[in-house]
Amino acid sequence: MDSRAKTETTIAGIAASPGIAYGQIFVYLQSSVEVPSYIVEPDQRAGEVERFERAIVATRQQISRIKHEVEKNIGPEEAAIFDAHLMVLDDPALIAETVRDLETTGQNIETCFQKVAGRYIKAFSEFEDRFLAERAVDLRDVAQRLLKNLMGQDETSLRHIVGQRIIVASDIAPSESATLDRSAALALALNSGSRTSHAAIVARSMKIPSVVGLHDLTARVHNGDWAIVDGYDGLVIVNPTESTLFRYGKIQEKKKSFEARLLESNREPAVTRDGVAVTLLANIEKAEEVAAAKTYRAEGVGLYRTEFLFLAGSHIPSEEEQFVAYRTAVEGMAPHAVIIRTLDIGGDKPMAGKSDLFPKENNPFMGFRAIRFCLAHPEIFKDQLRAILRASAFGRAKIMYPMISGVGELARANAMLAECRDELRARGVRFDETIEVGTMIEIPSAATTADLLAKRCAFFSIGTNDLIQYLLAIDRVNDRIAHLYEPTHPAVLRTLRHIVHEAHANNIQVGVCGEMGGDPVFAPLLLGLGVDSLSMSASWLPAVRYIVRAMTMADARALAAEALTLESPAEIYARCDAFYRARVKIE
Ligand code: PEP
Ligand code: MG
Repeated sequence: MDSRAKTETTIAGIAASPGIAYGQIFVYLQSSVEVPSYIVEPDQRAGEVERFERAIVATRQQISRIKHEVEKNIGPEEAAIFDAHLMVLDDPALIAETVRDLETTGQNIETCFQKVAGRYIKAFSEFEDRFLAERAVDLRDVAQRLLKNLMGQDETSLRHIVGQRIIVASDIAPSESATLDRSAALALALNSGSRTSHAAIVARSMKIPSVVGLHDLTARVHNGDWAIVDGYDGLVIVNPTESTLFRYGKIQEKKKSFEARLLESNREPAVTRDGVAVTLLANIEKAEEVAAAKTYRAEGVGLYRTEFLFLAGSHIPSEEEQFVAYRTAVEGMAPHAVIIRTLDIGGDKPMAGKSDLFPKENNPFMGFRAIRFCLAHPEIFKDQLRAILRASAFGRAKIMYPMISGVGELARANAMLAECRDELRARGVRFDETIEVGTMIEIPSAATTADLLAKRCAFFSIGTNDLIQYLLAIDRVNDRIAHLYEPTHPAVLRTLRHIVHEAHANNIQVGVCGEMGGDPVFAPLLLGLGVDSLSMSASWLPAVRYIVRAMTMADARALAAEALTLESPAEIYARCDAFYRARVKIE
């Protein structure tokens, strides 16, 4: 499509985060640069050096320009980062080593520079000192920009968005989303992903309207095109006509007044019409999100995804750094509890620049992830466990392990926890001796052995995002098969029923903290199946509270019972949708 022809084009994807945005597109081509490698004849090597020098000058000019714009539009503090980038470009060692590599290997200058920069990035990222380790991020950023200039490609970076834009990208990696600026991102529209992919989860927690699974969108639009992102119906409308804009204006008005109604009713307790109180909790990724959890009246944090502490920087945070973050969350949420989930890294959350710890895998979701990584790295795991234990002295904390596949892993994790308790006692450090330890149920083998696990832990939290992907063998981030990722598959319902039954038979509580728990269409089904609590992005609490208050638990149980007799996921979904629509009017 040539959008410059200004014809309206609608592109359908997957609705990932609700809301409507209208604005100009910023195409974010972040994919790391593919560097060609070839040998340069000796008589042409001087030309290579000249090319390198020209690219350095161009890169310096770009960075200075961006710095100036950011200073003007955002502020001097935010612009200071670019001084660090300019310093990288002035590093004589980096430049001299690149030229020396060209002379000795005869390879093209891009290849030489990539090798030398790679060595520096690795060295910096291994520093314990946070300041030095963060230089690796600057270096990587500048190296990418320089390589793009060497190869005549456009420069782009998420950090450098000036003004409010709809961000169109292939995907947003966890390390990139950590630098995503809510005030700059009007909306996200991504080629890949699904409702449970990392970027979608972050977008919902930041309340950024988003559509994912748009395939080749980055190739179909241009920087500066005007577009509507409809995060309710999963549409991107490029070059909308006046009448489309008018129609969307009306839709937005309606949605806004519905949202105002939701917020109004959010002040009320989450009690069904037949008097059953439902526990609604928040999922957070950063300690500061406790503020939003409280604004939306969560009764605690049901899932604190601690990996973002690790993904936001370029080093493994120390026990002390982690303690500060966990304590902030626990104190902020008091008297309610915070369920702190231990590190779940890998899968769609790889740690950039740490290939020594996370070697490339063919199938990362089935690979070296979460508790598997932690048990293999006791020094990292135990730092985290001690940090959580220490934070537990400042409010109510609970510990939760991700990706437990059976009792063996649970026992090994608990053995390390026992060592940490002993170490803290020996150090004379206070912690909550009665801290509860629970496990996520997100692997089918954990679900089927729920009876065994329930005897060994204080609570369950069902991670439907992973449970569904492993149960149905549907990669949760692959947009090509996203239509097969069916939360209402009879296998999912039966598995949930089994987990709840085993939890209750062993007198422990069971919640849901996957995305299914924050979907107001699925909440009645989950509650009807007997789950005790639902945990979700804070911004979803009003919508879920609304349906809880509009239904009776008796009806929810009848819905679940009927759903368990049905064979088709579509039919079960239709029943859930009808249940919701009969009780919630958006008009
Ligand atoms: C889940 O799998 O449902 C879950 C909550 O964990 P994550 O999305 O972080 O894998
Ligand atoms: Mg999970």
